[in-house]
Amino acid sequence: MFFKDSYDVVVVGGGPSGSTAARYAARNGANVLLVEKRQEIGSPVRCGEGVSMEIFKHVDIRPDPSWFVNQVTGARIFGPSGKFILIDAKNAGDEVGAVIERDAFDKYLATEAARDGAEIATKTSVVSLLKDGGEISGVRVRRMGEESDISARLVIGADGFESQVARWAGFNTNLKTRDTTSNLQYRMTNLDLDPRFTDFYIGSAAPGGYVWIFPKSGEVANVGIGLLLSRIKGASEAKDYLDAFIEKDERFRDASIMETVSGGVSVSAPLDKVIADRIMLVGDAARMIDPLTGGGISNGVIAGKVCGEVAAGAVKEGDCSEEYLQRYEKGWRELLEEKLYRDYMAKEKLVTLDDEALDKLIEVMSEVPLENLSTKEILTAIRTKYPELVKEFEDLI
Ligand SMILES: Cc1cc2nc3c(=O)[nH]c(=O)nc-3n(C[C@H](O)[C@H](O)[C@H](O)COP(=O)(O)OP(=O)(O)OC[C@H]3O[C@@H](n4cnc5c(N)ncnc54)[C@H](O)[C@@H]3O)c2cc1C
Repeated sequence: MFFKDSYDVVVVGGGPSGSTAARYAARNGANVLLVEKRQEIGSPVRCGEGVSMEIFKHVDIRPDPSWFVNQVTGARIFGPSGKFILIDAKNAGDEVGAVIERDAFDKYLATEAARDGAEIATKTSVVSLLKDGGEISGVRVRRMGEESDISARLVIGADGFESQVARWAGFNTNLKTRDTTSNLQYRMTNLDLDPRFTDFYIGSAAPGGYVWIFPKSGEVANVGIGLLLSRIKGASEAKDYLDAFIEKDERFRDASIMETVSGGVSVSAPLDKVIADRIMLVGDAARMIDPLTGGGISNGVIAGKVCGEVAAGAVKEGDCSEEYLQRYEKGWRELLEEKLYRDYMAKEKLVTLDDEALDKLIEVMSEVPLENLSTKEILTAIRTKYPELVKEFEDLI
């Protein structure tokens, strides 16, 4: 199928954020093209495939058996000594999530966008932004070796962690090594797991990050590690740490690896500004990933909806200026910003703790009934038993 040479909105990137932005822009009356460089939406998967249930509250998404494979009842966070806290749905509500099939999930979101009227171009790369008198006026794409120009009143950069759209548009997306993690993950089978829980291991087993086990069933899980770049010498260390973890754990004794994936994740605060005249950024491109967990699907989808709605409004009003697009900036920040900053500060503090301090933290948290789990509640609880541990955390409380 061939696309036209002019649209109201061009969305760059067919991940969860881009498909959701495209969907809500089209649903609200805009003429939308969603451009994805990969030949297949959602594949290959580079993701632990864990999501919080929060997205279902904000966005019109119905869990579909094709991708909603395991709703867990709790998350277990293990300290270095092996002691853990269980964060269950009663205490953490929608933060306790589900394990999905990411390729099918991404296809589901793109299908919803198409149903609402967005056109989709796969195997098509955006290679630059078009500018007219200094103003963004569309994108240049490469498809089957040929380049062509597509004009657009508004461009949405949803092109992920390594966003080129953001750089071309002049946003400062530089990341410090202490705000970036190197990740490696195995999709494993023949395991012996309790599929009711997602497991997280913190401490020296994963410097500045954690090991995760996200089960799809008792037998199959994503087992991965994220390490802060500033705490390791090279990306290859992720494999050493992950293999060492797996070797020690009986549940992996007869396991086989079906797939290996790797990739970077930002654990920074969000960009100060994600809009300019005729352009908006969303999802990983805007650094909306949660800095504590490294999870970005839910935030990208939640912000994607606001982004799409504002895009349609801007087109309808004939005003795609930065001033109009402030509606998006305000909207997504109201929903996500406070938690992103709090989690960023929590991450900054947590990475300074040694194994002994982390064990104390887990110990206290396991003793306190956490009725309403939040960073603030956790820190207040810790202050009672180990005041010296939270001395540095006062500003978070
Ligand atoms: C190993 C690993 C494990 C992770 N585990 C989890 C997890 O369990 N839970 C979670 O919530 N998050 C996880 N994440 C993060 C999560 O994958 C991202 O936050 C999420 O994919 C963000 O969605 P997005 O739509 O913003 O970007 P992406 O999903 O990265 O989508 C961007 C899309 O843009 C396309 N694109 C890029 N450049 C161009 C271009 N020039 N032209 C056209 N198309 C382009 C790409 O091909 C891609 O499809 C993990 C990340 C990694 C690396």
